[in-house]
Amino acid sequence: MASKNQIKMIFPSCSENVGIARVTAAAFAAQLELTLSDIEEIKVAVSEAISNAVIHGYGDKPGEIEFTLSLDEDRLEFVITDFGKGIADIEQARQPSFSTDPERMGLGFVFMESFMDELIVESAVGKGTTVRLIKRVAAAPAH
Ligand code: ATP
Ligand code: MG
Repeated sequence: MASKNQIKMIFPSCSENVGIARVTAAAFAAQLELTLSDIEEIKVAVSEAISNAVIHGYGDKPGEIEFTLSLDEDRLEFVITDFGKGIADIEQARQPSFSTDPERMGLGFVFMESFMDELIVESAVGKGTTVRLIKRVAAAPAH
């Protein structure tokens, strides 16, 4: 029974890796008996967080992203950390339609919040950002 499992990935900030992290999250979630729509929602939430690290955290600059996927009893957790520019006002950044880029919709955090059970954002300007995405799940089934 997969009641405890953890994978840690470190990869450079580039858009190709958003898709790799997205399928990794889906494969990790697949050790539980989740519905396809649960898995779709996890994929969206994870790719929004990693896209934010690539686009806003690092912009055009090179940088590293840490991605940790954990399963602990009834809790699935995805932690995305960048060491980029950070967020000055987290509460404002989490508001629907707020974006520092006029070309964007400002909906990434809204998707993360609505598709997961818990969203925790920690950030320091000039140091980086950590986003925790938590989904509570029924006890892991035996395979
Ligand atoms: P969308 O996700 O709809 O393309 P968006 O990325 O601007 O637009 P959110 O994902 O909700 O919207 O993020 C809101 C704002 O929070 C961003 O515009 C950006 O200013 C800030 N932000 C989010 N993640 C990070 C990060 N990792 N580093 C620095 N700033 C961030
Ligand atoms: Mg976004």
